[in-house]
Amino acid sequence: MSMAVLKRLANRIFVTGPYQVAKDGSVEAEIPHRCPQARLDGTCRIKKFGTRKRICGMGYPLWICLCVAHKYHFTVYPPGWIPYARNPIVQLTPDGKPIEVLHPNANCEEASPWSFTIFKSIIAAAAGRLWPEEKQLGVAGSPLPPDYQGVARTQKRGIKFFMKMFGLLKRSHYKWREKVCDLLSIEMSTLQNSKEKMNTRSRGPPLWKVRGEQGKEILETLTASAKTSDKLLQLMQLA
Ligand SMILES: [Zn+2]
Repeated sequence: MSMAVLKRLANRIFVTGPYQVAKDGSVEAEIPHRCPQARLDGTCRIKKFGTRKRICGMGYPLWICLCVAHKYHFTVYPPGWIPYARNPIVQLTPDGKPIEVLHPNANCEEASPWSFTIFKSIIAAAAGRLWPEEKQLGVAGSPLPPDYQGVARTQKRGIKFFMKMFGLLKRSHYKWREKVCDLLSIEMSTLQNSKEKMNTRSRGPPLWKVRGEQGKEILETLTASAKTSDKLLQLMQLA
């Protein structure tokens, strides 16, 4: 059984914890034992304060808790999620288990377990899809959910973010790639090859597509689990 834990991203401490489906069909967080203000003396006294609806994201309201002892309100983020993100690091069930993506066409963009994560720009690029120059939210006839579409500029930023995180920028230091390999059990040769290809213009497919394909290959060597989510968060924290 997973339980709520304190995590850190940049200087921010936040809480992630499992959500469960209740008898009435609503999705409820487990009340954490510690708040971000927690001292080691275990003095937290936490109760539910309210919920916060999200326009896009996990599809159920987030719980806001109040620690009476520390007079502190905080959000409980579901496993795989971080504050202010539109997508999770890894797509997991509300209680933190890996999800099984069933899609009739395995080569399709949405068949990847990473399609609806913070790495969605990579998966779209690998499928040869560059996001539009202008915002086209909720385009009629689009098979994608209305919050899925971003703009090309955002996608390119997403690809750069991935490359920085995995040490694949031209200027990225090999020591960083060693760290990535250690943490995620990726072969060094895999990252070296990808870095080379991701920074070499050719007469073949455009660079953004090559970057997408290489990134997708790397992502798909990872297990889409809560453990991987924690490791990726650790990389984001250091990058
Ligand atoms: Zn507290």
